Amino acid sequence: MAAAVLGEVFLLHLEKDASAMVQFTCDGCGKNLTPPGTSRYVVRLEAYAAQTLSDVLTEDDLQDDQVEEMARFLQQVEAGLVTPPSSVPERRQMRFDLCLDCYRRFLQDPLRREPVIRLRFHQN
Ligand SMILES: [Zn+2]
Repeated sequence: MAAAVLGEVFLLHLEKDASAMVQFTCDGCGKNLTPPGTSRYVVRLEAYAAQTLSDVLTEDDLQDDQVEEMARFLQQVEAGLVTPPSSVPERRQMRFDLCLDCYRRFLQDPLRREPVIRLRFHQN
C-alpha cells in the first residue's frame, strides 16, 4: 500500500511539472520539439536476433544444407570475418522522437540505404 501511495504522489508531481520540465528534441536533427504546436513523432524499434546458434542446432533442423551453412559460418567466425552472435546484444528496444522532416525521411528509408540512387531518381 505504501508503495502505491508513493507512486501516486510521484505521478501527480510529474504531471504538475510536466509542461515545465519535459524537453523534446528531434533525435534526427536536434530541432527543439518542445514548443506547443510543434509536430513530434515517435519511432519505437525492437531489434533482436531471429536465430541463435542453439536454435540452428535443434535436431529437427539438422538438414545437410543447414549443417553446411553452420560450418561455413563457424569458419568465418574463426577467421574473424564475422562476429559471433554471442557478442551481439540479443534484444534492444529503442525509442526516438522525430520532427516531421526526419519522420518522413525515416519512413521513406528507415535504414538509410541508398541515398545516391534516391538522389538520381529525384534529379531525373
Ligand atoms: Zn529532425
